[in-house]
Amino acid sequence: MTIQDTIYLSDYTPFGFIVEDVHLTFKLAPTTTRVISRIRFAPNPDSPSRDFFLHGEGLNLQWAKVDGADVTPEIIKGGLRCDVPDAAFTWECEVEIDPQGNTALEGLYMSNGMYCTQCEAEGFRNITFYPDRPDVMSKFTVRIEGDSPVLLSNGNPVDSGDGWAEWHDPWPKPAYLFALVAGDLRNFPGSFTTMSGRDVELNLWVRPGDEGKCAFGMEALKKSMTWDEETYGREYDLDIFNIVAVDDFNMGAMENKGLNIFNSAVVLASPETSTDSNFERIEAIIAHEYFHNWTGNRITCRDWFQLCLKEGLTVFRDQQFTGDMRGHAVKRINDVVTLRSRQFREDSGPLAHPPRPDQFVEINNFYTVTVYEKGAEVINMLKHLVGDDGYKKALDLYFARHDGDAATIEDWLQVFEDATGRDLTQFKHWYTDAGTPHLKVTDNFENGTYTLNFTQETAPTPGQDEKPARVIPIAVGLLNPNGDEVVPTQILEMTEAAQSYSFEGLNAKPVPSILRGFSAPVVLERETSATEQAFMLAHDTDPFNKWEAGHALTREVLINMTQGGTPDQGLLDGLAAVARDHSLDPAFRALALALPGQDNIASTLAARDITPDPDKIWRALQTLKQAVAQHLQDIWPRLLAEMATPGPYSPDAEPAGKRALHGVALSYLSQIDGGASAENAYASAGNMTEQLSALACLLSVEKGQDELAAFRKQWQNDRLVMDKWFGLQVSYASPQTCVETAQRLSQDDDFNWKNPNRFRAVFGALMMHHAGFHRADGAGYDLLADWLIKLDPVNGQISARMSTGYETWKRYDAARQAKARAALERINATPDLSRNLGEMVTRILGA
Ligand SMILES: [Zn+2]
Repeated sequence: MTIQDTIYLSDYTPFGFIVEDVHLTFKLAPTTTRVISRIRFAPNPDSPSRDFFLHGEGLNLQWAKVDGADVTPEIIKGGLRCDVPDAAFTWECEVEIDPQGNTALEGLYMSNGMYCTQCEAEGFRNITFYPDRPDVMSKFTVRIEGDSPVLLSNGNPVDSGDGWAEWHDPWPKPAYLFALVAGDLRNFPGSFTTMSGRDVELNLWVRPGDEGKCAFGMEALKKSMTWDEETYGREYDLDIFNIVAVDDFNMGAMENKGLNIFNSAVVLASPETSTDSNFERIEAIIAHEYFHNWTGNRITCRDWFQLCLKEGLTVFRDQQFTGDMRGHAVKRINDVVTLRSRQFREDSGPLAHPPRPDQFVEINNFYTVTVYEKGAEVINMLKHLVGDDGYKKALDLYFARHDGDAATIEDWLQVFEDATGRDLTQFKHWYTDAGTPHLKVTDNFENGTYTLNFTQETAPTPGQDEKPARVIPIAVGLLNPNGDEVVPTQILEMTEAAQSYSFEGLNAKPVPSILRGFSAPVVLERETSATEQAFMLAHDTDPFNKWEAGHALTREVLINMTQGGTPDQGLLDGLAAVARDHSLDPAFRALALALPGQDNIASTLAARDITPDPDKIWRALQTLKQAVAQHLQDIWPRLLAEMATPGPYSPDAEPAGKRALHGVALSYLSQIDGGASAENAYASAGNMTEQLSALACLLSVEKGQDELAAFRKQWQNDRLVMDKWFGLQVSYASPQTCVETAQRLSQDDDFNWKNPNRFRAVFGALMMHHAGFHRADGAGYDLLADWLIKLDPVNGQISARMSTGYETWKRYDAARQAKARAALERINATPDLSRNLGEMVTRILGA
């Protein structure tokens, strides 16, 4: 990428004009949609600029007028420029666009005959000429003309007739929150009365035939609305709230004001077709998009560098919501597993960037785990530092002070400073600095005083060599050697590169439980013995650290096994104790019995300057799985019986936790019974969770071909279930057959590669299959490169996102590196690469 393509935070200037209101008329036609805009502009007193530049891409301008007089704007790269009066004026123009030919799925496009839009981040410029930036907010009135029976846009309905409808959104919004949907849709209705007594009409719009998959999503929406009122005092602000399910969608879902658009995979649900984790994810994403109504829509971002202002906060809020709905301990463990496997990986590689980056080429490449998940972790730390009351005061002030604003991270931190009196100057490094701090700890005990000595260090990241010390809230509790808690959880605030903390008046040297609840997104390094970890697994009162003790012990055993070690007896006994412990929640036991992912082992090795060998990691995991299966062989059949969930299916946390543990028991048992139990489980499965888990068990022991064929026959007309069928075969293939399986599936008649869900099902599974993707002969690298090159001209956003499969390439041995580099350079040499993929490959190569 050339330097002039880069956009810098430091270059921010406000737009020279205020947009007073926007009228849009859409005359829909698949290849020749006309968009007529009438926009009232006025000079912006806060900006010295009078440069009238409107973004626009791929638009066929028919005519343009200023105050009713024809004008001929200068069409330039990325938009147009026009001479305008130095006073308020009306801009009008008409453009023609081609929704059917829009395969990038940005702007207005078609999915199965239905019109829909995706405007975040910069899709609106594919619809009409407009100042397409989040700090330009205005009220929109939209008229849609078309022969579809359902015509939707943002805000409240104004009027409609045969072949047309008008909508008005009374809340000023940036263009990225614009939405339009038109199609032959069916409605699943609902209603909600807000805390001030206003009735809101709720609708979930789906394709004919999907009406039976809406009830859960509708309930999740109502729960979210109630929760945001009770927890944050936030009330919904329109007469109507519409959700639409769309099959072809680049992301999960989009929070357009009053008209959320969802990837059908994260809104449609039924027990027959959705797994427990699908249900949980759907509930969380519906909540997330709904919560954006306040954190994102009413208060938006000044510019795209501030993306984590809305995303970090909204992820944090949806995490709180899911914890309240389904249990905080399990939710926290799941979130940390995701953070470590994806964000820590990003933070330690060529794509590392701060939650608030200060430069980008293509903003779509910054919808990352760092912006979302680490953005949420930063807020979790803030809450630890200011306490629950301080957090509540700060949030109330944030909503009161910034409602209607396009805000910045500085604004956000300022409300915390003003509400709590704290100085957050040093804390701000969490937003502006990349990289995961490594926190090393040693301890000593003398005369009844126990001391913890911490040091922190963050490795250099691209463009950032200097890493000043961060503020790290470290939640610590101390246990007596008999297992009693002698010092309950307290927050140590580390602010220096090295710092010590003492606890006095102790009778015996305690066992420390450090970073309880994972109070900061850091890598904790401490020399401990397997005995101590087993003790913590048995006694820690903090559920996260209890899980962590077992997880860390398992990881160390696996690492040792990659260097020739054998499965550890203490670990096997510890896992047996957890499996048998009826006082523990089944969902927790399922997590504790799950083995760490291969990429997790690889990243741990890489952090210790040991070159990970994917084949050895794979073999170590297989060997340990066998050993656990054998050692606990009496427990599995008992767990299968105890964790059965007869009767009608419910996606609630309790039965879902039982099914999770049932699934874990079945997968271990399959290792020693040749798949016999899994065959029975498949035959008697009463819901998708059981069906899919049994099928996965069979595939992992190289059985299940008959079941796979039967599954396809049963579900061939359900595109979402068929995505699972595609993905599962790659995920559970052996390292030797994974690439060939992906290759074979990509030739299947049902492999519609232009559909993002189907593409991700196969190639997302390939890049996540550690030993398969990083196969020594480079076949995984080559196959993904072939497909990214093929996909890029059609959908640059998805090709760019999938290129992150290569982000760890420098971890591996020279031979693998050479093969990965060749694949990346082949992509890079492709003519007319999209800006999205071009930027990603350049960064990954480190050129
Ligand atoms: Zn979001």
